[in-house]
Amino acid sequence: MADQLEEIKSKIDLVQFISSYIPLKKAGRNFKALCPFHTEKTPSFIVSPERQIWKCFGCGLGGDVFRFLMEYEKMDFGEALRFLAKRAGVVLKAYQPTESEAEKEKLYQINHLAAEFFHYLLLNHPAGKPALDYILGRGITKDSLRLFKIGYAPNLWDGLQKFLVGRKGYKPQDLEKAGLVIKSSKFYDRFRHRLMFPLTDHLGNICGFAGRLLDPEVKEAKYINTPETLIYHKSDLLYPLDLTREEIKKENKAVIVEGELDAISSFQIGVKNVVAIKGSALTESQVKLLKRFTENLVLALDADIAGDSAARRGIEIADREGLNIRVVELGKYKDPDEAAQKEPKYYKEKIKRAVPFYDFLIDSAFKRFAGNTPESKRKIGEEIIPVLAKIENEIVKDHYVRKLSDRLEVSEEAVLTQIKKYLMTVSVSQPVTPVVKTPKSRPELLEEYLLALCFQSGKVEILLEKRLESLFRIPGHRRIVELLKDFLKKKKFSSPEFSSTLPPELISLFNNFYLFDLGEKIEDEEWVSLEAEKTATEIEILKIKDELTAISGEIRKLEKEGKSGGKDWKKAQQEFKKLSLQLASIKSKKEV
Ligand SMILES: [Zn+2]
Repeated sequence: MADQLEEIKSKIDLVQFISSYIPLKKAGRNFKALCPFHTEKTPSFIVSPERQIWKCFGCGLGGDVFRFLMEYEKMDFGEALRFLAKRAGVVLKAYQPTESEAEKEKLYQINHLAAEFFHYLLLNHPAGKPALDYILGRGITKDSLRLFKIGYAPNLWDGLQKFLVGRKGYKPQDLEKAGLVIKSSKFYDRFRHRLMFPLTDHLGNICGFAGRLLDPEVKEAKYINTPETLIYHKSDLLYPLDLTREEIKKENKAVIVEGELDAISSFQIGVKNVVAIKGSALTESQVKLLKRFTENLVLALDADIAGDSAARRGIEIADREGLNIRVVELGKYKDPDEAAQKEPKYYKEKIKRAVPFYDFLIDSAFKRFAGNTPESKRKIGEEIIPVLAKIENEIVKDHYVRKLSDRLEVSEEAVLTQIKKYLMTVSVSQPVTPVVKTPKSRPELLEEYLLALCFQSGKVEILLEKRLESLFRIPGHRRIVELLKDFLKKKKFSSPEFSSTLPPELISLFNNFYLFDLGEKIEDEEWVSLEAEKTATEIEILKIKDELTAISGEIRKLEKEGKSGGKDWKKAQQEFKKLSLQLASIKSKKEV
């Protein structure tokens, strides 16, 4: 297994691989980027081609190609392993999935088979005919039915069970875990006589289903969904991101709608950069996922966003993450599905003309409250101030403060004062706190810098110099230099070969030398030599100074104990003199 992991890693170039997800910029021997895992304005995400590792110095995440994929695509190890093995063309010999991975895999399979079953019934079975007529009548094309694998759940208590339990050999308990059956005195199918939309995640796994009522006369919920399961989390899902993510990237814009039909109807008329959020409120995990593909969101929701506090909270989250949000006004149509079906051109035009969220909010408030009496001005203020108060960017905030005060015909000070008052009454939710790092001591930093210089430039022989022998005080650093000495007795230095001889506990320390940001100067041999020389001297000076402090403490102690002039005292005095001379000599050389 370990061999196969190494084989996969050796066949995939980390720089190329990460470049296919985020733009990397060359910086000396390394590559840099804005970290995809936390919000930042200056890049602290570093990739070392030499070591084939990455690390973010902002949030602390880091690792190899597997870790990157697991973090970026939210895969578990088994998923990442299979994905990368396929990419590298490595046939996996024996991979034992963990219990929860195996469980997830089983649920995906069950959902996959259920989707096939429903899809077959809709397109090919007489029982599905009325449903087929209905959905075609709603303007969904056969191509779309195939692409989105839409299906029909028969009007039976055990239709799906007959197929999955009777013919495929699953247990009813497995189906229950997938949310497809409900247990009372016995098991019965959750979805009956409904149009079925398989809900895929951004990797194309079917996590669950949305079942839409066909007969409007029946007094049941219009939609029922898979309940929360091991693989279905309503608040994470963006439907059908697996099919639309590339288009979202290409257009650098995502159109956000509420329901499955809104998404499919939009897709059908060429608005392919669309996702449905199942509800009116964006969640934190949805925003984080979308942010990997675009920074521009266009909301085409049927809910009244201005009046819907959950929707507004979702927008605050997106704003905090630095996304630009615009709002589509559908005018005469009640939802994107209807607009796309009845007037595609109008719908596309409306998307193009989407207005920035804050303008939309102000317009909406003025439409509802005339804004010409003190009372209506107060009401508008009460609605808008809390939203403006939470705008992260001060320039944007200032722009809207001015706009609001203009329209209300009051002073900007009045608006600003209200914002301040509002902020005093609430504690604004803070963005994620950065990881607390214990600061490194100066000697530790200098040692790390010296080691980074030598290892990144390949000029490791510097580390063998006599005067460096007893210089390193961080035990791990000392150990690595000792092992390097042994290594170089036998062969020429190569980073992969040397690291394979290191004990596991030293690997991450060693990797850090390669992640250290040294910029382009690392290519300049002369600079490296001078810099290494300077740093070594600096370390030496620090070391002697610390020793001097220790000895003078010792001398004071002896004097207090009345041992001045004694044997120990004399020895300490001599040592002090010796070190002082040494220090003076180093300092004078340094000045030359
Ligand atoms: Zn980070």
